[in-house]
Amino acid sequence: MVKKRIKRYDNYMKKFALIMATLMLCALCAPASFGATSAKAETYKRLAGKIIGLDPGHQIKANRTKEPVGPGSKTMKNSVSSGTRGVISRTWEHEINLAVGLKLRDLLEEAGATVVMTRETADVDVPNSERAKMMNEAGADLVLRIHCNGNSKERVHGTSMLVPSGKYCTAIEKESAKAGTAILAAFIEATGSKDEGLRKRSDQTGFNWSTVPVCNIEMGYMTNEATDKLLNTEEYQNICAKALFGGILDYFK
Ligand SMILES: [Zn+2]
Repeated sequence: MVKKRIKRYDNYMKKFALIMATLMLCALCAPASFGATSAKAETYKRLAGKIIGLDPGHQIKANRTKEPVGPGSKTMKNSVSSGTRGVISRTWEHEINLAVGLKLRDLLEEAGATVVMTRETADVDVPNSERAKMMNEAGADLVLRIHCNGNSKERVHGTSMLVPSGKYCTAIEKESAKAGTAILAAFIEATGSKDEGLRKRSDQTGFNWSTVPVCNIEMGYMTNEATDKLLNTEEYQNICAKALFGGILDYFK
């Protein structure tokens, strides 16, 4: 009888210990999982209802038909230039721009934003003025043009952010610079690329036709051997996309 009672007591203690251990484990895990959930909720909140335009620069074939650099302008430029090319890889810029653009689109959509793309394949023919008009009509809250850079000097490397300036862009200059600053900072932090800063440009058709905030990342120089190699890896493209995503989130803070 006593033995039986001791055994029952033992079982009770074992169950009690198990419950206590489970409770302690939950208490330890709870703050971490709560933190992750609330960060995710915050991300959703920031991007809810936001329309983000992405313009992966260039296309498979340049379009040399001239178009006005801004509404009513007599200055004409090619509709779409061919872009730069990897010094080692020989990859065209339009391919890298699209690869990063599609990854960024997925990240933004997963976080609840509406994404409008100027192109989702290489084989398109969309002039730069048309790209801007697409975004105006979509009512984009922010447009990011995604590019890589080129330079005749192989040693030149780094990342810059082009932002609109000049008579066509007075209404969007301030917001565009604010977005450009946030996105460039996030990109530099995540990639460790050399910070070439913000560059005001009044000669960009894609800026001058825009009525919504827009900026243009020049992720890196494909004419630099090390950068070219990096930009051609899926791993680095993922880092770029995540960095741009983080920068967009910072802008909407
Ligand atoms: Zn470009």
